[in-house]
Parts: sequence; structure tokens; C-alpha cells
Amino acid sequence: MKLPSHKTKIVCTIGPASSSLSKLEGMIESGMNVARLNGSHGEFKEHAQNIRNIRAAASKIQRMVSILIDLPGVKMRIGILRNNSVMLKKGGDVVLTTRNVLGTQELIPVEYKELPKSVSKGTIIFLNDGFIQLKVEKISGRNVFCKVLIGGKLTTHKGLNLPGVKLNINPITDKDLKIVDFGLKHGVNVFGLSFVEGPKDIIKVREFAQRRGHHVYLVAKIERGAAIENFDEILKAADAVMIARGDLGVEIPIEEVPGVQKRLIQKANIMGRPVITATQMLESMTQNVRPTRAEVNDVANAILDGTDAIMLSQETAIGDYPVETVRMMAKIAVTTERQRDEGQLSDAAGRQISNRVIQNWGLTITDITALNAFRVTQELDVRYILTPTTSGSTARRISRFKPHCWVLSFSASAQVCDFLNFSYGVQPFFLNKKITHDPHAILKNLKKCHLLKKGDTVILTERRLSPHPGDTDSLGIVTL
Ligand code: PGA
Ligand code: MN
Repeated sequence: MKLPSHKTKIVCTIGPASSSLSKLEGMIESGMNVARLNGSHGEFKEHAQNIRNIRAAASKIQRMVSILIDLPGVKMRIGILRNNSVMLKKGGDVVLTTRNVLGTQELIPVEYKELPKSVSKGTIIFLNDGFIQLKVEKISGRNVFCKVLIGGKLTTHKGLNLPGVKLNINPITDKDLKIVDFGLKHGVNVFGLSFVEGPKDIIKVREFAQRRGHHVYLVAKIERGAAIENFDEILKAADAVMIARGDLGVEIPIEEVPGVQKRLIQKANIMGRPVITATQMLESMTQNVRPTRAEVNDVANAILDGTDAIMLSQETAIGDYPVETVRMMAKIAVTTERQRDEGQLSDAAGRQISNRVIQNWGLTITDITALNAFRVTQELDVRYILTPTTSGSTARRISRFKPHCWVLSFSASAQVCDFLNFSYGVQPFFLNKKITHDPHAILKNLKKCHLLKKGDTVILTERRLSPHPGDTDSLGIVTL
């Protein structure tokens, strides 16, 4: 068996360009760790087929691939336009209406029924990712009269954002809960929650699944100003977070995104929550076989910020080069990780996290064990950290320090393994009758699959003495 070449996890959005078995196999071989299904597009039948294909491809390539389903929440959109597109001219007048009409240059339908109540005179409305901007002049009944500040071509179903406007909506819809039901039925336990504003939204989905007898892992997508304000509470309630830069870059001033990204990644690292950096990472590869220099820098910098995972959206969903894009992302990850590990680059995020963890936390026994496992890797030439784990928490607590060596994590729960696959440098192993928690059995099996040889030094974390199942209380170091 061979471990992947990169420790940063690669999340790929699956769409028409990547749903065939052969494309999926190519993407897995090139480094895809997580396949993301987008709940806002496609029918259940299509998602079910995608899930079957992803699992078949993963089992053929013999790589673990986790599945993440994104719940769309309330993405505000315009409705259908005549001939599917209109031109809006700067200085022109346009009316947004919640009536069900076919859109024209003068009158555009909006699916979000609360629009007239949410805006007031002077509100700036962003259309199509902010490429078009309108200013509200007057509201009358179901119509919002606007002046075009920045014009351009607008096409059917494009997004609408109201930065800074307090919306009177619950981000978790009935449709979202139906998608959760669908996912659970198909053995998917990881869900992305769009447009969350606070911990309540996350708790709602968690309790919904609990009532159905399931434990779910919830990825809070940070894409609203309110989510940044409530980030600490969101981080506590969620299992992971996504810096969803697409909508975030419209909801807050675009120039604030890089700083926000760094701050949120650091906080997530301190808490030991996996964090995904998403959107436009290799955007130009949607049409081109090579990325821009700026995009390569963006991927590398997200890794240096301490992200666990990097995500591809339309590059793999509808792009011309899904496999090549994953390969490129993996190459950037391998090289950046190596440069960081060799000390050629300052590791502002990774290595400072240990100091921050000590400063910011009431440390638990497991934290202390994890911290010391990491410290040993700084002093000794360690091949792996081996962590048998019940909930995955020990592995995540080690992973946040971004050690040089892989964390091999062993769990008897397939779901725990699935979610560990989101953490930087963690390779989950599913325990069965043949592979057990017993350290001797683990070492023997690793030798058998050629991951270990004589002379290798490994660290093993364990619960030895503690009567509390969650505590990892001991650290063994052994040279074989
Ligand atoms: P989306 O989320 O692709 O579902 O919109 C990611 C983002 O907004 O960046
Ligand atoms: Mn989004």
C-alpha cells in the first residue's frame, strides 16, 4: 500500500464533467480525497448515481474517498429571463419583482419573496457575484425600483446578494432536511451547511439527524458577515468549517477575504476542527490546461495558512480538465508541504498553533498527549504517529499541528474514518476482525502492507490507564 503524496486534502465538486466512472477514477488517482455533491443542482436520482460511481471508482483504485453533500440553504437568485439573458445599462432603471414574470431588461423576477421587506432606499443589491450592482430607489408592494450602478449581462438564475442586510430567513430549509434524509439513506454522514449565521442553524440539522438515530458531521460554510461575527460559537457547534470565498467575497468587501481566511483558519486549527478553503482556487483551469501564477500562489498560501483541505468547484464540476486540475492541485500541495517541512518557508500557521493551543485552552489530557506527540516529531526522525481512536478526536488534535509525518488513525467506525479523511495528514484505517486496536497487531499489519520496516521509529498514542473512554493518556515511542 502507498500513502498519498500530499497531506493536504483535496475536495472536488462532482458535476457533469466528472461524474463518469473513468473521470472519477482519474481524479482519485490524481489525488481527490473528498467528493462533494452540490445539493443545489441535480435530482436525487442523479446524486444516487454519483454516489454509486464514486464508491465504485474508489474501490477500484483502492483509495479512501469520503463524500460530502452540500445543503444549498437559501441562496437568493433571480428567476428566468426571456431568452435567458438581458443587458443592464449603467444609469438605467430596473424593477425587481417577487411576482412570477418572465424577466426583461426593465423587470426582473426574484425568487426571494421577502425582498421588498428586506431592503430599503439606498440598499445596494449585488447580482451575479457582484459583477452587477443596483441601488434601491423606491419600494412599492412586491416591486423594488432600482438604478443600475454597474451594468452588464445578466443570465437566468444568477445569484443575488444583499451584503450586510439582516435577512429574515432561516438558512436551513425543508429541502435541506430532505437532502439530509437522502444522504443518510445512502450512507453519507457529512453535510455542508450553506449561509449559516450562527450555531442554531447547525444544531437544527444535528438534532434532525439525531431524531433519526444518526450521528452526522457538519461543515459550516462561512459565507456571510454574520457567520464571521459568530465564528467562535459556530466553530464550537460545527465539526468543520469551509471558508466559502465565493459568496463571502460578495457579502463582505472582497479585499477583506484574505485576512479573514487567515484568521478563521488559525482559529479552526486551534480548536482542532478541519477547515476547507474553497472557491476559485484554480478557476482558470475550468477552460485552460494551465493555471495562472496567482492561482498557484493562492493554493500554496492557503496551505501555509494551515488549511486542512483545498476545494475545486466548477473546475471539476463543469470544467474541461477535471483530472488535470486535481493533478495540478496535488502537485502544488506536495511541493508546498515539502518546502514547509524542510524549513524553507516560515510556517506561520502550523508551528505557532502549538503555542496558541497552550495559551488559549484549558488543556485536556488528550491535548497534552497530542501536543507531546507533535513535539517528539520535531526532535526525532519519526515515520508515523499511530493513533487508535474512537471518535477521531485524538487524530484531529495531532493533525492541527501539521507534523512532518503521517498520522495513521485506526477506528472501528466507518463514519469516523470518513470524517478523518478531511484532516490534514491523517490516513484513516478501518478496523475489522483482522486489524484490531492492539498495538502489536497494528505494527504487524503495517509491516505487512509495506508501510513500515525495520529501523523505523513510530509514536503510538493510547488510552492505557484512564477509566474515561475519551482520554488518550499515553505516548509510546518505539524503533522497530
Ligand atoms: P457554493 O459555496 O459553491 O455552494 O456557493 C462555496 C462558496 O460560496 O464559496
Ligand atoms: Mn456559496
